[in-house]
Amino acid sequence: MDEAAFVGALVALLVGLVVGKAWERYKLRGGRWIDRRKARESPHYILGLNFLVSNQIDLAIEELNNAAGLDADALEVHMILGNLCREKGQVGRAIQVHQNLLQQSELSRIEHAYVLLCLGLDFRRGGFVDRALETFNEVLRLDPDNRYALLNLEKLHEEQRQWTEAYAIRQRTMARAEPDAQDGHRTILAFLETEIGREAQRHSDSTQAISRYEAAIELDDGTVPAYLNLGDVHLAAGDTKGAISAWERIIDMAPERAYLAFERLADAYPKSGAPKKFTDLCHRLINENPLDWRARQALGSHLAEKGALREALELLLEALIHNPHALSIHQSIWHVLTELGLEARLVKRYIELTKGAVFYLDPHICMHCRYRSTELLWQCPQCHEWNTFLEERIAPAKEATEPLADRV
Ligand SMILES: [Zn+2]
Repeated sequence: MDEAAFVGALVALLVGLVVGKAWERYKLRGGRWIDRRKARESPHYILGLNFLVSNQIDLAIEELNNAAGLDADALEVHMILGNLCREKGQVGRAIQVHQNLLQQSELSRIEHAYVLLCLGLDFRRGGFVDRALETFNEVLRLDPDNRYALLNLEKLHEEQRQWTEAYAIRQRTMARAEPDAQDGHRTILAFLETEIGREAQRHSDSTQAISRYEAAIELDDGTVPAYLNLGDVHLAAGDTKGAISAWERIIDMAPERAYLAFERLADAYPKSGAPKKFTDLCHRLINENPLDWRARQALGSHLAEKGALREALELLLEALIHNPHALSIHQSIWHVLTELGLEARLVKRYIELTKGAVFYLDPHICMHCRYRSTELLWQCPQCHEWNTFLEERIAPAKEATEPLADRV
């Protein structure tokens, strides 16, 4: 580029910047230029933002309300004010603030979409589901890429158990996502597909249920509930072998979740003429992962049922060493010790092992919002995210330096 062209480009750029600044500041409204900074330059606005930052929401609302009073057209001030009211639970007022903004005739298409998005959030917060759905759909008509509207629409459909609709929305989100985010979207589609299958299963449509579960596994072969349910459908249709093969796939695809199929497999193997297979499976899992306390506990309980009490107790005590806080292991041990007539030597061994153990009733925790649950959940009831639960483990009492690394 020669020098003159360079200077020309620079001048054009500067002119553009200055015009842009002026445009940002002034807006033509009703035939005259309006200084859009009036509300934003008021001390109320600055004070309001300061209160907001220090989390004094009531004071922030008061100051922003004063700032908003200075200029009925100061879009962002009114938008923030409305959003704060919603967060404080003043949904009626939030709706009013945002609806008033929509009356402005000069809103650009994108401004209109943003105000509608805020209004949709107000409706959702207030529990006005139909109006929220309608409003988010309106946002998407104005701004088809609006991912907040897409996300809120999906969650609303999920809350109504409208899985097919939620699935369609997630597909739209996925189509707009970056290549490296595709796997995460596929995982959620697989969970939604699983829910569609469960609906079919509830309505005794096993053909549809099976094809939905298989589609879920096709989308993401780590979708554990799809395997569990698929096996259940096969079992209900009298296909024990089909059920077993669905459940066994969890062991290969998601070994850390294999325990979810233990009870089913322990019941099904004898029916398929392979009574020893469950014992073999547990031994295999323990060999593959020496920290696996669930396989030890399952095998211990299984052996206790068969009357092999001493062998059972050894396994349960080993399980306890790997997870001294799980109440369910203690309960299994109490049962076996009672069956063994509370033999003093064995009781003493147990008491030695339990020193420092804290019983832990709700070991599952949502990695997204820290919600705790006694059982593994696939969707969090608090933040509604999918597949966010991990088992929270306190390190074994004897190896207190070990971090939470062996979370299952
Ligand atoms: Zn959560």
